[in-house]
Amino acid sequence: MALAGVVASLLAIYNNPPYGLHLLLPILAMTLSSMLTGWRCTLAAQVLLWLGLILLCATHHIPLAEMIVVAIVTAVVAFAVQRDNNPLLGAFGLHQTTENEVLRSLLSAVPVVLLDKQGRISRASKACADIFGIPQSATVGQSFGDLVPGFDYSKQAAPSVPSGQVESGRANWHAMRPDQSSPIPVDLWLDHTPQGPLIRLVDLTPRHAADAQARELHSQLNKVWRLNSLGEMAATLAHELNQPLGAAAAYLHAAQEDMKAAGPLGESALRTTDLAKAQMLRGGQIIRRMRELLTMEMRALEKERVSRIVDDVLPILTLTGQDRNIVISTEIEMPDVVRMDRIQVQQALVNLVRNAVEASPNNSSVVITGKVISDRSYEIGVEDSGPGIAPDQVDSVFQPMTSTKSGGMGLGLSVTRTIVESHGGTLRVGVSRWGGARFSFNLTTAKQEAEE
Ligand code: ADP
Repeated sequence: MALAGVVASLLAIYNNPPYGLHLLLPILAMTLSSMLTGWRCTLAAQVLLWLGLILLCATHHIPLAEMIVVAIVTAVVAFAVQRDNNPLLGAFGLHQTTENEVLRSLLSAVPVVLLDKQGRISRASKACADIFGIPQSATVGQSFGDLVPGFDYSKQAAPSVPSGQVESGRANWHAMRPDQSSPIPVDLWLDHTPQGPLIRLVDLTPRHAADAQARELHSQLNKVWRLNSLGEMAATLAHELNQPLGAAAAYLHAAQEDMKAAGPLGESALRTTDLAKAQMLRGGQIIRRMRELLTMEMRALEKERVSRIVDDVLPILTLTGQDRNIVISTEIEMPDVVRMDRIQVQQALVNLVRNAVEASPNNSSVVITGKVISDRSYEIGVEDSGPGIAPDQVDSVFQPMTSTKSGGMGLGLSVTRTIVESHGGTLRVGVSRWGGARFSFNLTTAKQEAEE
C-alpha cells in the first residue's frame, strides 16, 4: 500500500511539470525537518503544505485527486520519520532526546535555583523543590531568604559577591519545610549566570548521619574499652582481695577457738564473729563469681528454692531502704524450686532491689515477687513505686555505662542482664502495680527438668 502510494505520488509529480518537480524540494525539506523536530512541528508543516497544494490545484488546474495522494503520502512519511517516532534516528543513536533535553533532565536531578534581582526564585529544579518539600511550581516567586533563613540576597548573591561557597556564619544553612518538620542542613554554592545568580544546594543530611554514626561507634568502642579495663580490674581485685579475706577468715576462726575456750563469757562474741565470717566468705564468693561472669565462665546450675535465696539476702536488702523508711517485702508463690547459680541470682536481685529503692519515694514499698508461670518456668520480679522507665529509655537503660545517677556507674542492669541471659532467661522491664518500674526475669523450674 505504502509503496503504491509513493509510486502514485511520484507519477502525480511527474505528470504535472514543472509544479510537480518544484514540489519535490519542499517535500524533501519537510521530511528532513520532521526527522529533526517533534510531532507538533511536523503537524504545523503539514498543514502549511496542504494549503500550498490546494492553492496550487486551484490556480494551476492540477487534478485535485493527484495532489491529495501526494499530500497523504507526504504526511504519512513525515509522521513516520518525525523525531519522536523515528526508528532511523534510533538506529544512529540520535533518538528523541536532544542535547538540551539531556541537560534539562540532568539539571532536574541537581538541586539548583535561579534567583531574580529581588532574591526571589525564578526557576528551581525538581530536586531543589524536593529539599524544600513543596511542588516545583510552588517555588517560583518565593523569596529564597524565606526558604533558607538568614540568606540575604544583597549580601550573598548580588553581582558584586564572588562565585563560590556561600558562607553561613553559623553552623550550616537550613532549608525550611512548610510542615515545620526538621529543617534540612545544606551547603550553598553561588554561580553568576547571564540569567541571574544560580544557587546550588548540597543536602548535608547523609553526611551528618554518617558523622553521628561515627560518633556513636566511637562511644561504643570507648565503652567496650572501659568494660575491658573494668574486667581486668575486677580480675586483679579478685586475686588481691582473696588473700586478705582468706587471712581475715582464718584469724576469725582462731578467735572463735579462743572464745569457745573462754566458755559462756565468749558465746555472744562467738555468734557475732560467726555472722562476720559468713559475710566475709560471701564477699569472697561474690568477687569470684564476678570474675567468672566477666570471663563468661559458668558453673553448673543447682536446684535452689527462690524463697530461700531471697531470705538469705533480705537482711542486707532491708538495710538499703531503712533510712528512707522503704519497706521491702516478698510475695513468693510455691512451688519455687528452680535451677540457678545462687550467688549470681542473689547478685541480680541485689542490683534490682537497690535500683528500686533508689528510684522509690520515702515511706514506700518495694516488692520481690515469685510467680509460677508454667511447669517449666518461674518468674522473679522486683516492683517499685518510682517514676518508672520511659518507653524510649527501655533499651538504653540496659546499655553498660548508662546512668542517670550522679555517682552511678551504669553497670547494675547490664551485669544483671548478663546473669539472667547466662541462665537462659531475658531481663524485661514493665510497669509495676503502682505505675513505677517492674523488672522481671524467668528461670527454669527444677522439678519439671527432673521429670524430663
Ligand atoms: P546505675 O544504678 O549505676 O545508674 P544501672 O545499670 O543499675 O546503673 O541503671 C541504669 C539506669 O537505669 C539508672 O541510672 C536509672 O536511670 C535507670 N533505672 C534502673 N532501675 C530503675 C528503676 N527501678 N526505676 C527507675 N529507673 C531505673
